[in-house]
Amino acid sequence: MTIHAANFRELRLDRLCRDFGSHNAVKDVSLTIRQGEFIALLGPSGCGKSTTLNLIAGLLPATGGGIWLDEKRIDPLRPEERGFGMVFQSYALFPHMSVRKNIGFGLKMRGMPKAESESRVAEAVALVRLQGQEDKLPGQLSGGQQQRVAIARAIAVQPPLVLMDEPLSNLDAKLRLEMRAEIRRIHNALGATTIYVTHDQEEALSLADRIVVMRDGEIRQVGGPEDLFSRPDHLDVAEFMGFRNKVSGKVASVANDLATVTVGNVGVTGRVRTKAAPGEVAHLSIRPEDLHPVPEGGAGLEAKVVSTEFHGREFVGFARMADDTPLTFLADRRIAPGTDIRLAADKERVLVFGGAA
Ligand code: ATP
Repeated sequence: MTIHAANFRELRLDRLCRDFGSHNAVKDVSLTIRQGEFIALLGPSGCGKSTTLNLIAGLLPATGGGIWLDEKRIDPLRPEERGFGMVFQSYALFPHMSVRKNIGFGLKMRGMPKAESESRVAEAVALVRLQGQEDKLPGQLSGGQQQRVAIARAIAVQPPLVLMDEPLSNLDAKLRLEMRAEIRRIHNALGATTIYVTHDQEEALSLADRIVVMRDGEIRQVGGPEDLFSRPDHLDVAEFMGFRNKVSGKVASVANDLATVTVGNVGVTGRVRTKAAPGEVAHLSIRPEDLHPVPEGGAGLEAKVVSTEFHGREFVGFARMADDTPLTFLADRRIAPGTDIRLAADKERVLVFGGAA
Protein backbone atom coordinates (compact mmCIF):
# COMPACT_ATOMS: atom_id res chain seq x y z
CA MET A 1 0.00 0.00 0.00
CA THR A 2 1.46 3.38 -0.94
CA ILE A 3 -1.07 5.38 1.02
CA HIS A 4 0.05 5.45 4.60
CA ALA A 5 0.17 8.07 7.27
CA ALA A 6 3.23 10.28 7.45
CA ASN A 7 5.42 9.58 10.44
CA PHE A 8 5.68 11.61 13.60
CA ARG A 9 5.66 10.75 17.29
CA GLU A 10 3.27 13.25 18.78
CA LEU A 11 1.28 16.42 18.31
CA ARG A 12 1.39 18.68 21.33
CA LEU A 13 -1.00 21.50 22.13
CA ASP A 14 0.60 23.73 24.73
CA ARG A 15 -1.70 26.11 26.61
CA LEU A 16 -3.50 26.94 23.41
CA CYS A 17 -5.85 29.93 23.54
CA ARG A 18 -8.21 31.62 21.11
CA ASP A 19 -10.18 34.74 21.98
CA PHE A 20 -12.87 36.34 19.89
CA GLY A 21 -12.89 39.89 21.28
CA SER A 22 -13.51 39.45 24.99
CA HIS A 23 -14.85 35.91 24.55
CA ASN A 24 -12.36 33.13 25.39
CA ALA A 25 -13.48 30.36 23.00
CA VAL A 26 -10.44 28.17 23.80
CA LYS A 27 -8.66 28.55 27.14
CA ASP A 28 -5.28 27.05 27.96
CA VAL A 29 -5.84 23.77 26.15
CA SER A 30 -2.88 21.40 26.64
CA LEU A 31 -2.98 17.94 25.11
CA THR A 32 -0.55 15.42 23.66
CA ILE A 33 -1.77 13.19 20.85
CA ARG A 34 0.33 10.19 19.90
CA GLN A 35 0.75 8.84 16.40
CA GLY A 36 -1.94 6.32 15.53
CA GLU A 37 -4.48 7.54 18.07
CA PHE A 38 -8.12 8.22 17.30
CA ILE A 39 -9.03 11.20 19.48
CA ALA A 40 -12.57 12.56 19.86
CA LEU A 41 -13.12 16.16 20.95
CA LEU A 42 -16.51 15.94 22.62
CA GLY A 43 -18.72 18.59 24.16
CA PRO A 44 -21.92 20.57 23.80
CA SER A 45 -22.42 23.23 21.14
CA GLY A 46 -20.21 26.26 21.73
CA CYS A 47 -17.68 24.50 24.01
CA GLY A 48 -14.78 25.34 21.66
CA LYS A 49 -14.15 21.99 19.98
CA SER A 50 -14.39 23.27 16.38
CA THR A 51 -12.24 26.27 17.27
CA THR A 52 -9.61 23.89 18.71
CA LEU A 53 -9.69 21.81 15.53
CA ASN A 54 -9.39 24.93 13.37
CA LEU A 55 -6.40 26.08 15.40
CA ILE A 56 -4.71 22.71 14.78
CA ALA A 57 -5.56 22.93 11.07
CA GLY A 58 -4.24 26.46 10.86
CA LEU A 59 -7.57 27.87 9.66
CA LEU A 60 -7.53 30.22 12.65
CA PRO A 61 -4.53 31.86 14.33
CA ALA A 62 -4.10 31.16 18.05
CA THR A 63 -4.11 34.13 20.45
CA GLY A 64 -1.90 32.25 22.91
CA GLY A 65 0.12 29.08 23.38
CA GLY A 66 1.66 26.89 20.71
CA ILE A 67 1.30 23.71 18.64
CA TRP A 68 4.20 21.30 18.19
CA LEU A 69 4.62 18.37 15.85
CA ASP A 70 7.50 16.54 17.54
CA GLU A 71 10.26 19.18 17.81
CA LYS A 72 8.76 21.50 15.21
CA ARG A 73 6.60 24.42 16.19
CA ILE A 74 3.80 24.50 13.62
CA ASP A 75 1.37 27.16 14.79
CA PRO A 76 3.08 29.90 12.73
CA LEU A 77 2.62 27.77 9.58
CA ARG A 78 -0.14 28.22 7.02
CA PRO A 79 -2.69 25.34 6.65
CA GLU A 80 -1.11 24.05 3.43
CA GLU A 81 2.32 24.04 5.08
CA ARG A 82 0.98 21.88 7.90
CA GLY A 83 -0.47 19.49 5.32
CA PHE A 84 -3.22 17.99 7.49
CA GLY A 85 -6.24 16.29 5.92
CA MET A 86 -9.57 17.95 6.71
CA VAL A 87 -13.06 16.48 6.48
CA PHE A 88 -15.99 18.80 7.14
CA GLN A 89 -19.65 18.25 7.90
CA SER A 90 -20.54 19.94 4.62
CA TYR A 91 -18.13 17.71 2.59
CA ALA A 92 -16.77 20.86 0.84
CA LEU A 93 -16.34 19.07 -2.51
CA PHE A 94 -15.82 20.92 -5.79
CA PRO A 95 -19.23 20.47 -7.49
CA HIS A 96 -17.93 20.80 -11.07
CA MET A 97 -15.12 18.26 -10.61
CA SER A 98 -15.47 14.49 -10.93
CA VAL A 99 -14.87 12.21 -7.96
CA ARG A 100 -11.44 11.39 -9.40
CA LYS A 101 -10.50 15.07 -9.77
CA ASN A 102 -11.79 15.94 -6.30
CA ILE A 103 -9.71 13.20 -4.73
CA GLY A 104 -6.62 14.08 -6.78
CA PHE A 105 -6.89 17.81 -6.16
CA GLY A 106 -4.40 18.00 -3.29
CA LEU A 107 -1.91 15.82 -5.17
CA LYS A 108 -2.11 18.06 -8.23
CA MET A 109 -1.59 21.12 -6.07
CA ARG A 110 1.58 19.52 -4.75
CA GLY A 111 2.79 18.92 -8.27
CA MET A 112 2.78 15.13 -8.06
CA PRO A 113 3.52 13.45 -11.40
CA LYS A 114 0.35 12.26 -13.17
CA ALA A 115 1.05 8.52 -13.08
CA GLU A 116 1.82 8.53 -9.38
CA SER A 117 -1.18 10.69 -8.61
CA GLU A 118 -3.46 8.36 -10.60
CA SER A 119 -2.34 5.34 -8.69
CA ARG A 120 -2.71 7.19 -5.37
CA VAL A 121 -6.27 8.23 -6.32
CA ALA A 122 -7.14 4.66 -7.34
CA GLU A 123 -5.93 3.42 -4.00
CA ALA A 124 -7.87 6.05 -2.06
CA VAL A 125 -10.99 5.19 -4.11
CA ALA A 126 -10.56 1.52 -3.22
CA LEU A 127 -9.99 2.31 0.45
CA VAL A 128 -13.28 4.22 0.70
CA ARG A 129 -15.00 1.68 -1.56
CA LEU A 130 -16.05 4.01 -4.36
CA GLN A 131 -14.85 1.93 -7.31
CA GLY A 132 -16.98 2.58 -10.39
CA GLN A 133 -17.99 6.10 -9.25
CA GLU A 134 -14.80 7.88 -10.30
CA ASP A 135 -16.28 9.81 -13.23
CA LYS A 136 -19.41 11.01 -11.46
CA LEU A 137 -19.92 14.53 -10.16
CA PRO A 138 -20.59 15.02 -6.43
CA GLY A 139 -24.20 15.98 -7.21
CA GLN A 140 -24.78 12.51 -8.66
CA LEU A 141 -23.78 10.80 -5.40
CA SER A 142 -25.63 10.11 -2.15
CA GLY A 143 -24.64 11.96 1.04
CA GLY A 144 -22.70 8.93 2.29
CA GLN A 145 -20.81 8.61 -1.00
CA GLN A 146 -19.97 12.32 -0.98
CA GLN A 147 -18.59 11.94 2.52
CA ARG A 148 -16.44 9.03 1.27
CA VAL A 149 -15.06 11.30 -1.48
CA ALA A 150 -14.22 13.93 1.14
CA ILE A 151 -12.41 11.30 3.24
CA ALA A 152 -10.53 9.94 0.20
CA ARG A 153 -9.44 13.47 -0.71
CA ALA A 154 -8.18 14.07 2.82
CA ILE A 155 -6.15 10.85 3.02
CA ALA A 156 -4.79 10.78 -0.55
CA VAL A 157 -2.04 13.25 0.40
CA GLN A 158 -0.83 10.97 3.22
CA PRO A 159 -1.33 13.58 5.90
CA PRO A 160 0.28 13.16 9.31
CA LEU A 161 -3.09 14.04 10.84
CA VAL A 162 -6.67 13.70 9.67
CA LEU A 163 -8.99 16.31 11.20
CA MET A 164 -12.73 15.70 11.06
CA ASP A 165 -15.41 18.17 12.14
CA GLU A 166 -18.77 16.48 12.73
CA PRO A 167 -18.40 14.55 9.46
CA LEU A 168 -21.55 12.47 9.92
CA SER A 169 -24.02 15.16 10.97
CA ASN A 170 -25.65 15.50 7.57
CA LEU A 171 -26.33 11.78 7.15
CA ASP A 172 -29.45 9.91 8.21
CA ALA A 173 -29.28 7.61 11.24
CA LYS A 174 -28.62 4.37 9.35
CA LEU A 175 -25.90 5.81 7.12
CA ARG A 176 -24.34 7.49 10.09
CA LEU A 177 -23.81 4.13 11.77
CA GLU A 178 -22.41 2.63 8.59
CA MET A 179 -20.01 5.53 7.94
CA ARG A 180 -18.94 5.54 11.60
CA ALA A 181 -17.67 1.99 11.19
CA GLU A 182 -16.09 2.94 7.86
CA ILE A 183 -14.19 5.86 9.38
CA ARG A 184 -12.69 3.61 12.04
CA ARG A 185 -11.86 0.94 9.44
CA ILE A 186 -10.08 3.49 7.24
CA HIS A 187 -8.22 4.93 10.25
CA ASN A 188 -6.96 1.44 11.15
CA ALA A 189 -6.10 0.50 7.57
CA LEU A 190 -4.01 3.66 7.12
CA GLY A 191 -2.44 3.69 10.54
CA ALA A 192 -3.68 7.29 10.56
CA THR A 193 -3.87 9.72 13.45
CA THR A 194 -7.34 11.20 13.63
CA ILE A 195 -8.86 14.05 15.60
CA TYR A 196 -12.63 13.93 15.38
CA VAL A 197 -15.00 16.64 16.62
CA THR A 198 -18.45 15.57 17.75
CA HIS A 199 -21.21 16.50 20.20
CA ASP A 200 -22.53 12.93 20.10
CA GLN A 201 -21.26 10.92 23.09
CA GLU A 202 -22.18 7.60 21.49
CA GLU A 203 -20.13 8.47 18.40
CA ALA A 204 -17.16 9.42 20.57
CA LEU A 205 -17.46 6.31 22.75
CA SER A 206 -17.67 3.94 19.81
CA LEU A 207 -14.92 5.53 17.67
CA ALA A 208 -12.21 6.95 19.85
CA ASP A 209 -9.20 5.53 21.67
CA ARG A 210 -9.31 8.59 23.91
CA ILE A 211 -12.01 11.18 24.40
CA VAL A 212 -11.33 14.80 25.30
CA VAL A 213 -14.38 16.32 26.95
CA MET A 214 -14.57 20.10 26.55
CA ARG A 215 -16.76 22.63 28.27
CA ASP A 216 -16.62 26.43 28.15
CA GLY A 217 -13.40 26.41 26.11
CA GLU A 218 -11.54 24.15 28.54
CA ILE A 219 -10.64 20.49 28.71
CA ARG A 220 -12.63 18.92 31.53
CA GLN A 221 -11.45 15.32 31.29
CA VAL A 222 -9.40 13.10 29.00
CA GLY A 223 -9.80 9.35 29.09
CA GLY A 224 -10.61 6.10 27.36
CA PRO A 225 -14.27 5.45 26.52
CA GLU A 226 -14.91 2.96 29.35
CA ASP A 227 -13.22 5.24 31.83
CA LEU A 228 -15.25 8.30 30.93
CA PHE A 229 -18.44 6.31 30.73
CA SER A 230 -18.22 4.87 34.23
CA ARG A 231 -15.86 7.22 36.07
CA PRO A 232 -16.47 10.83 35.05
CA ASP A 233 -14.48 13.27 37.20
CA HIS A 234 -16.84 16.22 36.92
CA LEU A 235 -20.54 16.67 37.33
CA ASP A 236 -20.92 18.16 33.86
CA VAL A 237 -18.89 15.35 32.26
CA ALA A 238 -21.20 12.90 34.03
CA GLU A 239 -24.26 14.69 32.67
CA PHE A 240 -22.75 14.61 29.22
CA MET A 241 -21.97 10.89 29.56
CA GLY A 242 -25.61 10.03 30.17
CA PHE A 243 -25.96 10.52 33.94
CA ARG A 244 -28.98 12.66 33.22
CA ASN A 245 -30.42 12.71 36.72
CA LYS A 246 -28.86 15.31 38.97
CA VAL A 247 -30.15 15.52 42.52
CA SER A 248 -28.80 17.80 45.24
CA GLY A 249 -28.62 16.97 48.93
CA LYS A 250 -26.47 17.18 52.05
CA VAL A 251 -23.71 14.70 52.85
CA ALA A 252 -24.68 12.62 55.92
CA SER A 253 -21.66 10.34 56.11
CA VAL A 254 -18.58 9.28 54.19
CA ALA A 255 -16.88 5.89 54.48
CA ASN A 256 -13.98 4.99 52.20
CA ASP A 257 -15.16 5.91 48.73
CA LEU A 258 -18.86 5.73 49.53
CA ALA A 259 -20.97 8.66 50.71
CA THR A 260 -24.55 8.81 51.90
CA VAL A 261 -26.37 11.97 50.86
CA THR A 262 -29.65 13.04 52.44
CA VAL A 263 -32.30 14.12 49.95
CA GLY A 264 -35.61 15.05 51.60
CA ASN A 265 -36.05 12.27 54.17
CA VAL A 266 -34.00 9.58 52.46
CA GLY A 267 -30.34 8.75 52.41
CA VAL A 268 -28.90 7.81 49.01
CA THR A 269 -25.50 6.11 48.91
CA GLY A 270 -23.09 6.30 46.00
CA ARG A 271 -19.44 6.35 44.93
CA VAL A 272 -17.56 9.56 45.69
CA ARG A 273 -16.12 11.17 42.55
CA THR A 274 -15.18 14.57 43.98
CA LYS A 275 -14.48 15.14 47.66
CA ALA A 276 -17.61 15.08 49.79
CA ALA A 277 -17.54 16.22 53.44
CA PRO A 278 -20.29 15.58 56.00
CA GLY A 279 -22.68 18.52 56.34
CA GLU A 280 -21.79 19.93 52.91
CA VAL A 281 -23.83 20.07 49.74
CA ALA A 282 -23.30 17.27 47.20
CA HIS A 283 -24.85 16.25 43.91
CA LEU A 284 -25.89 12.78 42.91
CA SER A 285 -25.60 11.69 39.26
CA ILE A 286 -27.64 8.70 38.15
CA ARG A 287 -28.33 7.26 34.69
CA PRO A 288 -32.02 6.87 33.84
CA GLU A 289 -31.42 3.17 33.08
CA ASP A 290 -30.12 2.63 36.63
CA LEU A 291 -33.04 4.34 38.39
CA HIS A 292 -36.10 2.17 39.05
CA PRO A 293 -39.31 2.30 41.11
CA VAL A 294 -38.93 0.43 44.42
CA PRO A 295 -41.64 -1.92 45.74
CA GLU A 296 -44.19 -0.65 48.29
CA GLY A 297 -42.54 0.28 51.60
CA GLY A 298 -38.98 0.47 50.11
CA ALA A 299 -36.77 3.56 50.47
CA GLY A 300 -36.04 5.81 47.53
CA LEU A 301 -36.22 9.33 46.11
CA GLU A 302 -39.82 10.48 46.44
CA ALA A 303 -41.40 11.83 43.29
CA LYS A 304 -44.65 12.19 41.36
CA VAL A 305 -44.95 10.59 37.95
CA VAL A 306 -45.46 13.05 35.08
CA SER A 307 -45.64 10.55 32.21
CA THR A 308 -44.33 7.26 30.89
CA GLU A 309 -43.30 6.45 27.33
CA PHE A 310 -43.14 2.98 25.78
CA HIS A 311 -39.70 2.50 24.16
CA GLY A 312 -40.12 -1.01 22.83
CA ARG A 313 -38.07 -2.95 25.32
CA GLU A 314 -38.97 -0.87 28.37
CA PHE A 315 -40.94 2.08 29.63
CA VAL A 316 -39.18 5.38 30.28
CA GLY A 317 -40.74 7.32 33.12
CA PHE A 318 -40.57 11.02 33.90
CA ALA A 319 -41.21 12.28 37.42
CA ARG A 320 -40.67 15.35 39.55
CA MET A 321 -39.58 15.57 43.16
CA ALA A 322 -41.31 17.95 45.59
CA ASP A 323 -38.72 20.68 44.85
CA ASP A 324 -39.37 20.23 41.09
CA THR A 325 -36.12 18.29 40.38
CA PRO A 326 -36.88 16.19 37.28
CA LEU A 327 -36.08 12.47 37.33
CA THR A 328 -35.99 10.07 34.37
CA PHE A 329 -36.19 6.36 35.15
CA LEU A 330 -36.91 2.95 33.67
CA ALA A 331 -40.00 0.96 34.53
CA ASP A 332 -41.46 -2.36 33.45
CA ARG A 333 -44.95 -0.96 33.01
CA ARG A 334 -46.86 2.24 32.33
CA ILE A 335 -47.50 4.28 35.49
CA ALA A 336 -50.42 6.71 35.68
CA PRO A 337 -49.49 10.42 35.80
CA GLY A 338 -49.85 11.77 39.33
CA THR A 339 -48.81 8.48 41.00
CA ASP A 340 -46.49 8.92 44.00
CA ILE A 341 -43.43 6.70 43.62
CA ARG A 342 -40.04 6.07 45.16
CA LEU A 343 -37.02 5.63 42.90
CA ALA A 344 -33.71 4.01 43.77
CA ALA A 345 -30.47 2.87 42.16
CA ASP A 346 -27.74 0.46 43.22
CA LYS A 347 -25.05 2.36 45.18
CA GLU A 348 -22.39 1.23 42.68
CA ARG A 349 -24.36 3.09 40.00
CA VAL A 350 -24.72 6.39 41.84
CA LEU A 351 -21.97 9.02 41.60
CA VAL A 352 -21.48 11.60 44.35
CA PHE A 353 -19.92 14.96 43.51
CA GLY A 354 -19.12 16.98 46.58
CA GLY A 355 -18.84 20.75 46.66
CA ALA A 356 -20.95 23.31 44.86
CA ALA A 357 -20.05 21.87 41.41
P1 ATP B 1 -20.55 23.82 17.57
O1 ATP B 1 -20.63 22.34 17.61
O2 ATP B 1 -21.86 24.50 17.78
O3 ATP B 1 -19.76 24.37 16.42
P2 ATP B 1 -18.20 24.10 19.16
O4 ATP B 1 -18.01 23.40 20.45
O5 ATP B 1 -17.50 23.56 17.99
O6 ATP B 1 -19.74 24.22 18.88
P3 ATP B 1 -16.93 26.56 18.55
O7 ATP B 1 -17.50 26.63 17.19
O8 ATP B 1 -15.53 26.19 18.72
O9 ATP B 1 -17.81 25.60 19.45
O10 ATP B 1 -17.21 27.95 19.26
C1 ATP B 1 -16.78 28.26 20.59
C2 ATP B 1 -17.25 29.63 20.98
O11 ATP B 1 -16.59 30.62 20.20
C3 ATP B 1 -18.73 29.85 20.76
O12 ATP B 1 -19.23 30.61 21.82
C4 ATP B 1 -18.80 30.62 19.47
O13 ATP B 1 -19.92 31.43 19.43
C5 ATP B 1 -17.51 31.42 19.50
N1 ATP B 1 -16.99 31.66 18.14
C6 ATP B 1 -16.60 30.71 17.27
N2 ATP B 1 -16.15 31.26 16.11
C7 ATP B 1 -16.27 32.61 16.26
C8 ATP B 1 -15.98 33.74 15.44
N3 ATP B 1 -15.46 33.60 14.21
N4 ATP B 1 -16.25 34.96 15.93
C9 ATP B 1 -16.74 35.13 17.18
N5 ATP B 1 -17.04 34.10 18.01
C10 ATP B 1 -16.82 32.86 17.57
